[in-house]
Amino acid sequence: MPENSHFIDGQWHEGEGDSIAVENPTTAEEITTVNNATEGEIEEALTAARSAQVAWGRRPPVERGALLRETASVIAENVEELSDLLIEEQGKTRSVAEFEVSATAEYVRYMADWDRRIEGEILPSDDQGESIHLVRKPYGVVGAIIPWNFPLFVLFRKLAPALVAGNTVIAKPSEETPLSTLRMWELVEEEVDFPDGVVNFLTGDGSVGEGITSSDVLDLISFTGHRDTGIAIAREAAKDLTETQLELGGKAPAIVWKDADIEKAVERILKANTSFAGQLCTSVERIYVHSDVQEEFERTYTDAAEDLSVGDPAEDPDMGPHVNEAELEKTRDAVERAREEGAKILTGGGPPADRTKGYWYEPTVVTDIDQDSVLMDEEIFGPVSPIVSVSSFDEVIEYSNETEYGLSAYVYTDSYSTAMRGAHEIEFGEVYVNRTLGEALQGFHTGWNQSGNSGEDGKHGALKYTRLKTVYHNYGDGEPGW
Ligand code: NAD
Repeated sequence: MPENSHFIDGQWHEGEGDSIAVENPTTAEEITTVNNATEGEIEEALTAARSAQVAWGRRPPVERGALLRETASVIAENVEELSDLLIEEQGKTRSVAEFEVSATAEYVRYMADWDRRIEGEILPSDDQGESIHLVRKPYGVVGAIIPWNFPLFVLFRKLAPALVAGNTVIAKPSEETPLSTLRMWELVEEEVDFPDGVVNFLTGDGSVGEGITSSDVLDLISFTGHRDTGIAIAREAAKDLTETQLELGGKAPAIVWKDADIEKAVERILKANTSFAGQLCTSVERIYVHSDVQEEFERTYTDAAEDLSVGDPAEDPDMGPHVNEAELEKTRDAVERAREEGAKILTGGGPPADRTKGYWYEPTVVTDIDQDSVLMDEEIFGPVSPIVSVSSFDEVIEYSNETEYGLSAYVYTDSYSTAMRGAHEIEFGEVYVNRTLGEALQGFHTGWNQSGNSGEDGKHGALKYTRLKTVYHNYGDGEPGW
């Protein structure tokens, strides 16, 4: 268990603010408490990050990359301990928790290698004896606000590219899941010699997030979380024109066309709906099935959902609990409202019979609904699969795009033209054809519309933590410029 709540200017602090309980969602029992950062602690962290930035930004990128590679090694050496904490504070199944920790180490290694790849450009000048350089500079101080669903991976999606580019960071884990982050940094900080103030952690709830993101010390806010929080942060940031990178929620459609391999589609969509109890931004949240194959799809999908094991995440079943009471209530409420609309529940629709404590909901398959159903609108973030029958591809494209979100979408078909139409006409930032979830670290995970305004991973994600400067080098004896 971590012993402190904050890491500021190279020092651990127990914290002086109110305490927040951290719960184990498997049992709803309290694990420990952490302290909400006070205004003074937020100010200290901002000052430390600002003071450290100039020297950090001037270091050769390869030195920054080396520290990140050492960080990756520490994370990779502690997969078991960090996974145990993820399971305990968050309810992730063992294999998903181990995947998160290993994938985080891999991600940090990948981003560290941008140390020799962040390049500028040299442009031809209109004047004799002049060359124009576009150079990439760090923003300065980055505020990184993290959700509870991938506390380590999403954290390093921001931290690694920010640091390699020469920014300093103040990061805030979610109040639901601070323990894995704090313990990870205890392990890293013992082994890796980051200068004081380059990385700072503050623990706390939304008020601490607001305290960080409303500061005019920040040059960039990188936020992952709920759409409504993202909008609130963007409004606040607009007051002093602080740059924002917002990675928000989704309402992913999965289209199953009449020529699809149904077994493959069932297996992959079910995985994209129930992995981590449906609490992923890329989770399938709506299924549109061609009417010719609807009966076969529903039967096979329902059977497969009933075969999933649901239980203690430490024992690595297919699915564990929701993270907390509020998330469980959101799922429960959406299904109850669908029931009132006349929807038919093919399986699930409540907690597993053997679970009396904790935040549990069974894999749930719902049919006899249409596009107007409550289940097709807001992000649910639970293992609920609403199925709507469709018969024309124009109609299914229209339905898929009929949402404020635009993150991930899925198309299952054996037809080249159907796949190409889906890939190009669905107005989402990423489309998976005949494939379940899991984005590549060299790709670009980007939400369109109200799913965000930026993107992460790969070249384009790395460069998001830099801004361009133009430098005119005049060495001729002519009269350049105006
Ligand atoms: P959330 O918005 O409730 O909280 C996210 C973080 O913001 C937490 O650290 C919280 O303390 C902080 N916060 C809350 N109010 C704030 C405020 N006013 N100002 C600043 N910070 C504030 O989200 P959540 O419930 O933790 O995460 C789930 C959401 O995240 C889902 O919508 C999911 O789709 C989304 N998500 C998106 C991606 C992506 O890559 N697009 C990845 C993971 C999760």
